Amino acid sequence: MHIGCHLSVADGYAAMGRTALSLQADTFQFFTRNPRGASAKEIDPADVAELNVILRENHFAPLVAHAPYTLNPCSAEKKTRDLALMLMLSDLERMELIPGNYYNFHPGSHVGQGDDAGLQLLHVFLETILPHAKNTTVLIETMAGKGSEIGYTFEQVAEMIRSAGSPDNLGVCMDTCHIYSAGYDVVNDLDRVLTHFDETIGLNRLKAIHLNDSMTPFSSRKDRHECIGNGSLGLDAVAKVINHPALKDLPFILETPNELEGYRKEIALLRGLSAK
Ligand code: FE
Ligand code: FE
Ligand code: ZN
Repeated sequence: MHIGCHLSVADGYAAMGRTALSLQADTFQFFTRNPRGASAKEIDPADVAELNVILRENHFAPLVAHAPYTLNPCSAEKKTRDLALMLMLSDLERMELIPGNYYNFHPGSHVGQGDDAGLQLLHVFLETILPHAKNTTVLIETMAGKGSEIGYTFEQVAEMIRSAGSPDNLGVCMDTCHIYSAGYDVVNDLDRVLTHFDETIGLNRLKAIHLNDSMTPFSSRKDRHECIGNGSLGLDAVAKVINHPALKDLPFILETPNELEGYRKEIALLRGLSAK
C-alpha cells in the first residue's frame, strides 16, 4: 500500500521527503503556502531537485499538494475569487518543478448564493486554471457540506468535472471523514458508496484518499477529523477502505490530529492491516 501523512513544508521540500522516509511513508501531503497568511516559501531549485531524487529512488506514489483551505474559488466577492485564482495559478506554476504529482483543492463555499451559483463560478474558475496544470493533476476534494460548502455530493463533483469538459488533468481526492459526514455510509456499506461514486463521477477519476476518522456522527455535515480508530468510522471501516480492490493501490494520506510520532504509529498500524 501507499501511505503517508500531512507534513509541514517549513523546513523545505527535501526535508519532507526525509521525514516521510523516517515514518515509513511513501507519499505525503503538504500545504503549498501558509494556509492563513497565504505566503509561499521561496523555491530553492537544489532543494526541489533533492526531493525529486528521494521520490524516484524510493518509489514514492504521487504526492498531494494542498491549496490553502482559506481560498474560496466560488465566493460571491470577485476580489475573493480573484485572490484564489492568482494564488492557485502561482501554485500550479511551482508544481511544474515536481512533475507528476497532485494538486488538491476545496471547491469552496457559495456563501448564500446557492449550490448552482457556486457550481457555475467553479466552472469558470476551473476553465481558467486547468490549462496551467501541464504535468500536474488537479484534484477536487469531496467535502463534508459544512456551512455553504459545495462538493458534498458525488453528483456535484461529477458536474464540476463534466462542465470542465472532463479533461485528463482533473481528478478527485476522496476524504473518508468528509463523505461519512456528508451522508455516505462507508461504515455499513462501502461497496454501495463506491458503486455510487463509479456511476456518478467514475472510479477512474479517483486519484487519492484522505484517510481520516471522524469526531462527529454519520451525516452530521461537520468537518472534524479524528485519529484512526478513535472516531465514528472506527478501525474496522478504515481497514475495509485500505483493502478495498477499488482503493487499495491509491495513495492514502492521513490528516488526523497527530504530531509526527502519532503519524508514525498510524502508518505502522495501517501497514499491518493492509493485506499486501
Ligand atoms: Fe482538504
Ligand atoms: Fe481532507
Ligand atoms: Zn476535513
